[in-house]
Amino acid sequence: MQGQSITELRSEHNYLALPDSYYSLRQPQALDSPRLVITSESCAQLLDIQSDTLNSAASLLTLSGAEYPSQWQPLAMKYFGHQFGYLNPELGDGRGLLMAQVRNKKGELWDLHLKGAGTTPYSRGGDGRAVLRSSIREFLASEALAALNVATSRALAVVTSDTPVYRETEERGTTLLRVARSHVRFGHFEFAYHSKDRDLLEALARYVVQTHYPCLNANKQGYADMFQLICEASARTLADWQSIGFAHGVMNTDNMSIIGDTFDFGPYGFMDRFRANYICNHSDHEGRYAFDRQPAIAQWNLSALAQALSPLVEHDALTKGLQAYNDTFNHAFLQKMRRKLGLHIAYEEDQALIFEGFQMMQSARLDYSFFFRTLSQEDLTRALATLREHAVDIVSFDAWSRKYQHRIEKEEIETEVRAGAMRAVNPKFVLRNHLAQAAIEAADKGDYSLVNRLHRALTKPFEEQNEFEDFADLPPANSEELEISCSS
Ligand code: AMP
Ligand code: MG
Repeated sequence: MQGQSITELRSEHNYLALPDSYYSLRQPQALDSPRLVITSESCAQLLDIQSDTLNSAASLLTLSGAEYPSQWQPLAMKYFGHQFGYLNPELGDGRGLLMAQVRNKKGELWDLHLKGAGTTPYSRGGDGRAVLRSSIREFLASEALAALNVATSRALAVVTSDTPVYRETEERGTTLLRVARSHVRFGHFEFAYHSKDRDLLEALARYVVQTHYPCLNANKQGYADMFQLICEASARTLADWQSIGFAHGVMNTDNMSIIGDTFDFGPYGFMDRFRANYICNHSDHEGRYAFDRQPAIAQWNLSALAQALSPLVEHDALTKGLQAYNDTFNHAFLQKMRRKLGLHIAYEEDQALIFEGFQMMQSARLDYSFFFRTLSQEDLTRALATLREHAVDIVSFDAWSRKYQHRIEKEEIETEVRAGAMRAVNPKFVLRNHLAQAAIEAADKGDYSLVNRLHRALTKPFEEQNEFEDFADLPPANSEELEISCSS
């Protein structure tokens, strides 16, 4: 017997209860000849949908915006945002609609957002569309991050079509069904604050507390605690990004989720060769969102949120939240890096070993994920010998390697246990740029097998999966030249 399909989901209309300046009701604009590119079974499970029903004609119409249950009320959200440091009041969902908010059997509320659904009042002259390559990129990254245990928005399906969309060349109009616990961004609060309307601001704070922080009260203390929890959640996510080598690429405040999830990532990058100042977004000329600036940028974004909350929360409480961000980040980052290195006992000296490790990787030109996965072998001597062969700066590699060996000798657990624990946090399969690119090129020609195969490998990133060995190879020499830019 077939289980529930997406067309049977009933929507709650929680966001619709906000003042109507927060949204515009809007119909999606359908795509021509929609066809399914890829679906995520684990995402379907979150919605209690049986994943093979996503192949049905009715589901395809919903996933491409042609039809949807009569009880859903699609809307485009209004928000502001600081883009590359400058406030932009013109923002909102310009090419996506919140289609429904559905509650699963566990009682969790999930937003269904159709990206690429056509123009809205916030499209600012844009066509409201998404293309195949950007949709595949968001799909793969969402599902890969989730499998790496990073808090993130999810992706249920990608549907492409014959609807022409013009970028530098003609491309295919495509939709991505994004699934997330929240689509409220820091920029929502900035919109309310700059509108100088306290009721508007308070309505949003109440909504966020009730929906996402239900343990809190909708009052002054509750809003202060809410800010602190947002700071702490963001810090944990940032610690995850920094420890797995993920660069978001466009950390504008309209792309920052109010629950601290990884959100709205387009020109992201999973780092190959370790470079502290890695810039994945080709449009980021100044390197504002360079890899090593991400933790500080998140805090900058949280201060923009603090300003927006200042009519509701006292200055001292906001400062305390920002400090909690620092403390949580530092603690979580150190803990994650210790685990990656197999250090179970905490020593003062570990922090220096970790940071010297980064410097060594940079000057030795080592691949970040390959480094940690190789180090996770049981035979440490052999692991270090392999890495030494790849190291360009042997002097710095040897110096670090000696320190690391000394440090490991102080560990009291058995080698197999240590190595096993390291393999559980150091992925073998990472969404490298060249892999995403190859999958996109095949999909552009109508062959979706590679993107589906890559997705399968990335759903179990810590397991050996010998059948996907080709995805675990180091990137080809020219892969650093691949350029990814902002909205597409
Ligand atoms: P993003 O860089 O995807 O976060 O987008 C920034 C802003 O531009 C958001 O308000 C988007 O909705 C809007 N936007 C991006 N691409 C398009 C497009 N093709 N058509 C209309 N609006 C867009
Ligand atoms: Mg955005």
